[in-house]
Amino acid sequence: MTGLRFVLKAMIACIALAMVVPGKRTISVIASTPPQAAKRIALSFDDVPRGRGAFLTPDERTARLVEIFRSRHVPQPVFFLNPNRIVHFGDGIDAPKRIAAYVAAGGVLANHTNTHPKLSKVTADIFLADIDRAEAYLKTQGKAYRPWLRFPYLDEGGPDRAKRDAVRAGLAARGMMNGYATIDGSDWNMEGQAIAARKAGKAIDMDALRDLYVETNVRSAAFGDELARRALGRSPAHVLLLHETDMAGLFLGDLIDALRQDGWEIIGADEAYADPMHRERPDVAWTAGTMIEQIAWEKKLAKPRWYERNDVKVANALFAERVLHEKLGAGK
Ligand SMILES: [Zn+2]
Repeated sequence: MTGLRFVLKAMIACIALAMVVPGKRTISVIASTPPQAAKRIALSFDDVPRGRGAFLTPDERTARLVEIFRSRHVPQPVFFLNPNRIVHFGDGIDAPKRIAAYVAAGGVLANHTNTHPKLSKVTADIFLADIDRAEAYLKTQGKAYRPWLRFPYLDEGGPDRAKRDAVRAGLAARGMMNGYATIDGSDWNMEGQAIAARKAGKAIDMDALRDLYVETNVRSAAFGDELARRALGRSPAHVLLLHETDMAGLFLGDLIDALRQDGWEIIGADEAYADPMHRERPDVAWTAGTMIEQIAWEKKLAKPRWYERNDVKVANALFAERVLHEKLGAGK
């Protein structure tokens, strides 16, 4: 829809230009206001198949997500799998069916390692072997397979440059690339907060939860794009990091609507990872986080280079105040 709007705008601009060719004064006005290209963003989901959240069964969650992809015409979301979860999670029995439903809805599948290790805590060899075990599953997935690795915890080796480079070389040797994210709103933490609140028997204001989820991610997108424009001098094709959560099952439709309202075009994962940014190999003292954060750090851009709400203390205070209506400092 947004794409169509862009084309229409461009056509109108062209027609207007053609019509006013004889009027020099008007041409300069038109030429100074070219049609604004939409900001572009692809949706990615980590930890698939993820464990149970606070509200939905895994089947319900998948059915809702698929319906959202359909009703919102979402092109090609990408799902980063931990194949080990398929057999080792209590809710994993129907996981292959759920994954197949995402593929049928136009999704593609990529690697989030087999067992979700933190690269800073394991050797490069162990990490690469874990990737290979996930690849063995993913390569059975036909045309839906993509050779992309999403680093668990966005940890690319932390302070250990030798390890970072060994894994970068290992990915290249396998014909794989970093399935980086450029925008992150720590949705996993909000999911965790909701689970904890539910367990504690607290009343959850679902409208406030939806609003906080949408606002947190839309603001993160705005922050990420602003940072990218400063770091790259342009707005790249972005990749939004989400997880396969109940938050997404319940509120992703609202988030997509809000992003579009804010001028974003939802694009497919193939288009996002075709951005020249995929060739970047930022060299920073601690390799972790989104691609944009790393590039901004490498270029020594002025702070802030990190989205405020990715600090869980900030995020949890907002959750307590707005979703649980707890007075700050009064609760446990
Ligand atoms: Zn993960």
